[in-house]
Amino acid sequence: MPAQCVSSRMGKTAIIGAGMAGLACARRLSASGQAVTLFDKGRGVGGRAATRRVETAKGVLSFDHGAQYFTARDERFRAELSGLAGAVAPWPEIPGLEGETRQVGVPHMNALPKAMAEGLDVRLSTKIAALRRDHEGWILEADDRAAFGPFKVVIVAVPAEQAVSLVASQSPMFAAEAAAARTAPCWAGLFAADALGPPPFAAQRLADHPVLAWVACDAAKPGRPSRALQTWVVHARPDWSAAHLEGDPQMVLGALHEAFVEIVRPSALVFFAAAHRWRYAQVAQPAATLFAWDPALGLGLCGDWRIGPRIEAAWVSGHALAGAVMAEMTAQ
Ligand SMILES: Cc1cc2nc3c(=O)[nH]c(=O)nc-3n(C[C@H](O)[C@H](O)[C@H](O)COP(=O)(O)OP(=O)(O)OC[C@H]3O[C@@H](n4cnc5c(N)ncnc54)[C@H](O)[C@@H]3O)c2cc1C
Repeated sequence: MPAQCVSSRMGKTAIIGAGMAGLACARRLSASGQAVTLFDKGRGVGGRAATRRVETAKGVLSFDHGAQYFTARDERFRAELSGLAGAVAPWPEIPGLEGETRQVGVPHMNALPKAMAEGLDVRLSTKIAALRRDHEGWILEADDRAAFGPFKVVIVAVPAEQAVSLVASQSPMFAAEAAAARTAPCWAGLFAADALGPPPFAAQRLADHPVLAWVACDAAKPGRPSRALQTWVVHARPDWSAAHLEGDPQMVLGALHEAFVEIVRPSALVFFAAAHRWRYAQVAQPAATLFAWDPALGLGLCGDWRIGPRIEAAWVSGHALAGAVMAEMTAQ
């Protein structure tokens, strides 16, 4: 049995996952006066709305190695963003993606989740390994044997594949829904280069390249600190990423590097290169509904995997689930 550390300072609702879905849910619940505690296994909030900072020989550099930009079609999402002005900016011109303005976090993508997390109770570096219920409510067991609770409500806001094992013993139906969803992997390449001139392009979506689907100059996105160095992020195609998912990282990096130089050459002299494997990157097979909610259990599931592979979808799912939880609380 894990050592139980029940804290009365914790909220009545626990949210596992402080990505866009978990944060959207937490903000709405918190704004309605409910006490919420978020748990995330990462060292920062945001999940796949991510920025990686690396120390290089030429200073600390940042790479948006997950989501590249996001849409804001939903009116409520736009209202949320307008309250976070300063953390987001429009990226109006992305070649091949005309017709709609996309947004980015500024000065980096993780500025958006960081701004959303302000004022919330977030426990980082805490991986929840299991959920159980006792007579007082939900207890969350972490992988280091710490336990948190009791909570009246638990929201699971993690990728579908990771939700399955968390909810299997408590709700086989929700576990089956999550097991039916599928998230495609993505190998990302991070490159820093001495700028020999302006970048040849800001970003390109590649339809026919055998390895890459996306190449972007991070430094050319809006609101980035101007510097003499260029940071680039490339994303491999989903089929290539799946075929090389368990491949040797050095070999994968070699292939990404070669493809990067082929496309961006000759304006870049690379002095830093790294590969990042997203085992669960973009939803390929979503569930059918915005969220799952069992009021009798006090258990809910949300995330991009309910609707589609987008930051906005994750936000909409988390926001909608919070509405269902609030309606239940009001009815009691
Ligand atoms: C390479 C890549 C490119 C993308 N490009 C775009 C794009 O251009 N535009 C766009 O809109 N979207 C894009 N996306 C998708 C977008 O990032 C996601 O749809 C969105 O961020 C998902 O949010 P979420 O909250 O549902 O999940 P996540 O962001 O995955 O958040 C889940 C959180 O749960 C935590 N967690 C998981 N298991 C546990 C556990 N057991 N205990 C505690 N914490 C746990 C994780 O650490 C994570 O922080 C991209 C994603 C990737 C990876």
